[in-house]
Amino acid sequence: MRAFRLHWPEPGRAGRTRLRFREVHMANPSEHLVDWLRDAYAMEQQAEAMLRAQASRLENYPDVRTRIEQHLDETLGQQALLESCLTRLGTSPSLIKGMTGEIVAFGQAVGGMAMSDEVVKGSMSGYVFEHTEIAAYTTVIVAAHAAGDLETRRICEQILSQEVEMSRWLLARLPDTAAAYLARSADGRDDAKR
Ligand code: MG
Ligand code: FE
Repeated sequence: MRAFRLHWPEPGRAGRTRLRFREVHMANPSEHLVDWLRDAYAMEQQAEAMLRAQASRLENYPDVRTRIEQHLDETLGQQALLESCLTRLGTSPSLIKGMTGEIVAFGQAVGGMAMSDEVVKGSMSGYVFEHTEIAAYTTVIVAAHAAGDLETRRICEQILSQEVEMSRWLLARLPDTAAAYLARSADGRDDAKR
C-alpha cells in the first residue's frame, strides 16, 4: 500500500500527516471500512436529531439558528452520501435504515437541553460533536485509502470539509454568543436563554 498525505482543510503546520502502510499488516481493511462507515452513518443520525432539536428551540439567536439549519441540510446530504458508499460496498438499504435507535434519543437529549444558559451549552456541545465527526471521518478516510476505495475516500474528504467549517464557525461565534447571553441575562431579559 502506498503512503499518502492526509489533509485536514485547515491552514497551519498541523494540517497534514504522512501515512505509511508498508509495514502495517491489515487483514481486511474493507471490513473495517464498512464498520466505520456504519458508525459514521449512526453518528449522522444523532447529528440530525441534535441539530433539529437545537434549530427548533433557538428563538433569539437567529444567526446561530440559520447556521444550524444550514448544517442540518448538509447533514442530510452526508447521510445520503454515506448510504451511497455503504450500498456500493454491499450493505442493503433496509439494513442501513435500521441503524438508528438509542443513539438518536441521545442526540435529541443533547439538542434539547432545558438549561438557563441553553444557547451557550448548545454551542459548546455542537463544537464537541463536530470534532467527534472530524475524528470519525479522519479514520474512515484512512480505511478507504487502505481498502483502495477512492470514491469513499473522496466523499468522506468532502464531508470532512463541512464538519471542519461548522466547527470553525461555532468556535468563531462562541465569544459573541456567550457575551450576548451574559448581557441579556444580566438585564433579566427573557430572550437570553435561547
Ligand atoms: Mg456530519
Ligand atoms: Fe457535523
